[in-house]
Amino acid sequence: MPHVRRLRKHRRCDEGGSLDIASRGRKDEFGIQMRLTVRDLMLPLRHPFTTAHGTLRSKHNLLVELYDGGLSGFGEAAPSLAYPQFTAATIAADLAGAARDLECHEFTGPDDLWETLTPRLGANPFALCAVDMAAHDLWGKQRGQPVWKLWGLELTNLPVSNFTIGLDRIETMVAKLHETEGWPVYKIKLGGPDDLAVMRELRRHTNAPFRVDANTGWTVDQTLAMAPELAALGVEFIEQPLPANAWRDMARLHRECPLPLIADESCQTVADVGRCAECFSGINIKLTKAGGITPALKMIREARKLGLRVMAGCMIESSIAISALAQLSPLLDCVDMDGAALLAHDPISGVRVKKGRAIFPDGPGLGIRVPV
Ligand SMILES: [Mg+2]
Repeated sequence: MPHVRRLRKHRRCDEGGSLDIASRGRKDEFGIQMRLTVRDLMLPLRHPFTTAHGTLRSKHNLLVELYDGGLSGFGEAAPSLAYPQFTAATIAADLAGAARDLECHEFTGPDDLWETLTPRLGANPFALCAVDMAAHDLWGKQRGQPVWKLWGLELTNLPVSNFTIGLDRIETMVAKLHETEGWPVYKIKLGGPDDLAVMRELRRHTNAPFRVDANTGWTVDQTLAMAPELAALGVEFIEQPLPANAWRDMARLHRECPLPLIADESCQTVADVGRCAECFSGINIKLTKAGGITPALKMIREARKLGLRVMAGCMIESSIAISALAQLSPLLDCVDMDGAALLAHDPISGVRVKKGRAIFPDGPGLGIRVPV
């Protein structure tokens, strides 16, 4: 991670004289209260990964460091082909503005920081999410406890994670299934010309349950035609069969489809949860599209009120973002946190997902270690 971006020339927080005595003691040697820096995080993939949105061979993510009072918290921004407006460049540019806002911010916790930054970063949830992850890591480190423990949760009866197999030639998908044997459930990316043939062939090679994700690639008629056989093949649910805004068609599909439907692209923020309750059986929350852990907690509460199943998923990302997601796992029905398992090399250590089971380290915050 050689490219450290100093986001601006520092100014002193006592310029203007607005800080109180207590907060002055936490400034660094430059007189800065909080410091936000961004590094490139280049992540080569183990194999090319294809969805209905395109093919990836490596990821250009960003690592965010939030410094306050002698400690640093870390977060990650993970651009996705599904959201082409949020690239590493646009995220870094928006974080540069946030860095200026934070120089004189007195950190009291992630909720307060999220509220402070939302006016600037609300339109770029990928950037907001990265800072919010870092804020949770910092908050936990300052208190010497893991985030899940500070929330009063316990690591018992956690849902196991699926392993995701990208859309590819059938023989390649079968090879990936064999390579990852032992995962308790598989999520299969569909949306190609031979989706049923893919599922029939994969079923010949494992008894594990399947989930399928069409990434908006199907129509109502296609979904209804395939659903009975998918159910017979051991598919638990279909994720996002139709385009994100096809609400009327989704409502019809929800009434007629024999398999549960889970919203992903249709459910980005807490404002979407209510509408999803009319069209889906559950929602797949992603920290990145929601704008961080703080809004994800609100989405979980809202979904529970409406009787929705709650899943959380990841992008292709390092153990920073996976460790952030893992903090929420005691609150979830199912989870998709295999993002770091798709990497050829993960430079970060943190929560490890081994054959679907999360192994939590002892460290405070998100439990991550980032190389200097
Ligand atoms: Mg999805």
